[in-house]
Amino acid sequence: MKIILAKPRGFCAGVNMAISTLDEALKRFGKPVYVYHDIVHNTWVVDEFRDRGVIFVERLEDVPDGATLLFSAHGVSPIIREAANKRGLRTIDATCPLVNKVHRAARQFAADGYTTILVGNKSHDEVAGIIGEAPDSIIVVENISQIHKLKIKKGSRLAFMTQTTISKYDTNIFIDALQKRFPDIVITPDSSICFATQNRQEAVSKLAAMADVVVVIGSNKSSNSRRLADIAESSNVCAYLVDGPDDIRGGWFKGDETVLITAGASAPEHIVQECIEVLIKRFHTTVEEHIVCEENIKFTLPKELRENY
Ligand code: SF4
Repeated sequence: MKIILAKPRGFCAGVNMAISTLDEALKRFGKPVYVYHDIVHNTWVVDEFRDRGVIFVERLEDVPDGATLLFSAHGVSPIIREAANKRGLRTIDATCPLVNKVHRAARQFAADGYTTILVGNKSHDEVAGIIGEAPDSIIVVENISQIHKLKIKKGSRLAFMTQTTISKYDTNIFIDALQKRFPDIVITPDSSICFATQNRQEAVSKLAAMADVVVVIGSNKSSNSRRLADIAESSNVCAYLVDGPDDIRGGWFKGDETVLITAGASAPEHIVQECIEVLIKRFHTTVEEHIVCEENIKFTLPKELRENY
């Protein structure tokens, strides 16, 4: 067996920043630190922080007065931010700057009188936060058939945006369908998919052609990880999404394959290495890293941790 290890893979700049922020908050303020939603969508990361005294909540009511509350990488709706401030909670905002960019665009389109078609998963934390910027002028579309059923008032000005982590292949299909129905819809040049999502997707789509099987490391809740598996499958290669080494099944392999391994933007590198170890032990595998592009972007810690707080 030969393993091709895709690069870039795993933690992106936004995830690194969110994790460092929570790490620093724990050091500075001590446990417990509360986090609104999962800090990132990965079970290993969440469980490790839980063991260190982080409490993840889905409702503000579950955060006691006087607590430190961190907003996760996926961002929150302004209503949550305002309610937390009103209660005088010590808040730290670890929203990825690229998610914030989509929030700003949503606000701007609404202020300019546009109705925004937002392609994404309605129940995803990121999408819920963006909708909160302009609930009356954002319509979420999850699949193409919903585009055909959209009821838009005559004369409305339309804009298009996406969740940061959807696949660029899907995005193009949505853009085509939307432009056919609404030729004047405003499409931002590179949509809203973030660079890290695009780079990981591009690596998989380029390298999948060399592989018989693709293993994507990431949690099922991670949108960008699921998209990587979808992209591999669209190249007619069998793809498996695994949270960690225990999910890998020997029966997936004969032992003479080329296996492409990649990881979603929230999957830790030590889990990638543990998965590789499982295959090496069982199949005496060789490992080659293939670099499709380099990523050097870093995001600074949020201002609450840069200034005296
Ligand atoms: S995947 Fe993109 S948008 Fe999401 S945290 Fe990473 S850099 Fe930010």
